[in-house]
Amino acid sequence: MGGEETESGYSIHTHDVIIIGAGLTGLRAAIETVDAGLDTAVISKVHPLRSHSVAAQGGMNAALGNVQAGDSWEDHAFDTVKGSDYLADQDAVELMCKNAPGAVIELEHFGTVFSRQEDGRIAQRSFGGGMFPRTCYAADRTGHNILHTLYEQLMGRELEQSKGSKSGGKITFYEEFFVTSLVKAGVSSEGKSPEQGERCVGCTCLNLADRTLHGFACRALLLATGGFGRLFTRSTNALINTGDGASLALRAGIPLKDMEFVQFHPTTLYGTNILITEGARGEGGYLLNNKNERFMKAYAPKSMELAPRDIVARSIQPEIDAGRGFDDKYVLLDLQHLGKDKIMERLPGIRLISMDFAGVDPIEEPIPVQPGQHYSMGGIAVGNDLATELPGLYAAGECSCVSVHGANRLGGNSLLETVVFGKLAGQGIGKTLSSSGSGVRVREEDEKAVLEKLSEEDERIKALLARDSGVKMAGLRDELKKLMFESFGVFREGKKMEEGLEKLRELKSRYPEVYIDNKSIVFNQALIYALELRGLFDIAEAVARGAIARNESRGSHARTDYPDRDDENFLAHTVYRLEGRGAEGKLDGKPVLEYQPVRLGKFPVKERVY
Ligand SMILES: Cc1cc2nc3c(=O)[nH]c(=O)nc-3n(C[C@H](O)[C@H](O)[C@H](O)COP(=O)(O)OP(=O)(O)OC[C@H]3O[C@@H](n4cnc5c(N)ncnc54)[C@H](O)[C@@H]3O)c2cc1C
Repeated sequence: MGGEETESGYSIHTHDVIIIGAGLTGLRAAIETVDAGLDTAVISKVHPLRSHSVAAQGGMNAALGNVQAGDSWEDHAFDTVKGSDYLADQDAVELMCKNAPGAVIELEHFGTVFSRQEDGRIAQRSFGGGMFPRTCYAADRTGHNILHTLYEQLMGRELEQSKGSKSGGKITFYEEFFVTSLVKAGVSSEGKSPEQGERCVGCTCLNLADRTLHGFACRALLLATGGFGRLFTRSTNALINTGDGASLALRAGIPLKDMEFVQFHPTTLYGTNILITEGARGEGGYLLNNKNERFMKAYAPKSMELAPRDIVARSIQPEIDAGRGFDDKYVLLDLQHLGKDKIMERLPGIRLISMDFAGVDPIEEPIPVQPGQHYSMGGIAVGNDLATELPGLYAAGECSCVSVHGANRLGGNSLLETVVFGKLAGQGIGKTLSSSGSGVRVREEDEKAVLEKLSEEDERIKALLARDSGVKMAGLRDELKKLMFESFGVFREGKKMEEGLEKLRELKSRYPEVYIDNKSIVFNQALIYALELRGLFDIAEAVARGAIARNESRGSHARTDYPDRDDENFLAHTVYRLEGRGAEGKLDGKPVLEYQPVRLGKFPVKERVY
């Protein structure tokens, strides 16, 4: 992995395909590009098996109908579209739901150890918004199982190649490499101006181990960088979920879509906000207030605890506000009636989390829970082929918005999205590159563009490290996260958001003075946090501006001053970009908001009743 050292001392690596992100999306895509015979590099800022996908608990949806006959991809698609509050693009939903059963079977053949029914078939449980046992799971460690399986698949391919027993592509992992920017270049050979013929030709990276800068040149690049949960104080997300991919794309001139739609999960453990899977309610868990009432009957009488997440999250807060919570902060999730055996078999991880982090054994006591940020429905704008508007640049998984989740994602549909669209992205890239001829080399001028960018990034990082005073990174980051939770949280209101945006702009203006005390060359995590923070500001503004402009309530976006859905004006995707290609690198590119029609289909737009 040493790459080629240039005169200026940077290492340059060339590959056909670069995949940024080693979660389920990135690894699933890599299997396809390697199998298509392409030289593939996977870059990740942590070891692949520490990607947030590993933390997924509850499961993955597919209309297998194993527990109860009569399920169909159409029913799955309908539940998804209704759950999305009709903002999802119906052709994308169709693509995902049709591919779901095949995706689960394929994972099983790869080696995923799904939980089983008595008759040996894959077990399924009910998740919110479906009210049908459609979610396949591996106890409450589904992501862990699938991520290890996909990693094994790639390790297997690597081993076969090293022994020369398999023809085909190559896989190289760059672990603990942090991507700092994307590189674009013009196709000058076609005589077009760079703007016209521009494509994505690579990226720049910081090697965490020794702080060296590396350049990567490629023929196609896939962003699979996950969500941005850590923009908010209370989040179920891993610390690494800082939305870097969305900000890299934004700075490369690519628009983000539907960024105001942020999911707050109803049941995160009070105190730490570690996720308590929806599977706990899927297995029959109750939500209780301090009157010992299953309060969901007042909010979603039909679906109760299995209403979609946005609705359950919005039911908990009023209970607490009305004095029916505990310590004015949380409600209870009661599993005791499920019995020890079921809890031990189906929810062993949840039991351990509750005992270790709240001192509560759910076999004997209810779990204290409160809503917390969980998922980003919005992301990098892509079509159903996962291509962005910049040739050569693709995005898939949680960092993208192919728009299968619309205004609210159903539990179990994200793992599904990662494997279905990860695979399609890999296949698409495989086809595109093979059609331009196998063995085509990365062009010299692309490598030159990467080198130029490297020296810019070098300057930026050196300047940051050279500052010994100014604004403390951690303090600024904490202020931002608190602001986002308070002003753009479960409930939103126009004036409060306007004030929030003003404060956000003020915080952002302090970023150029950020400094860190840690100047170490080896694993300088403070430096990574400081680089991530610039991206968090980009994303915060996209969320804030999208939310302020959307004068309606839809899915996760709940405006107290506009409580109704407004299909006449807002049955549309928000598209946010920084104006002009000159936005690259600048902290203050002019934000522009536009709207795009939703692609409707066989399901007519209706009220959501649960
Ligand atoms: C606690 C928890 C439980 C969940 N449970 C479920 C569930 O049961 N069912 C379900 O459907 N969904 C669930 N979800 C959602 C789902 O797990 C995620 O949406 C999905 O796994 C995201 O996968 P991904 O491949 O897009 O990204 P991730 O798995 O987040 O991977 C992102 C990758 O990008 C890399 N990366 C990011 N930035 C950079 C950078 N600058 N440089 C280099 N590398 C970078 C990271 O290192 C990582 O490898 C859960 C989420 C959480 C947080």
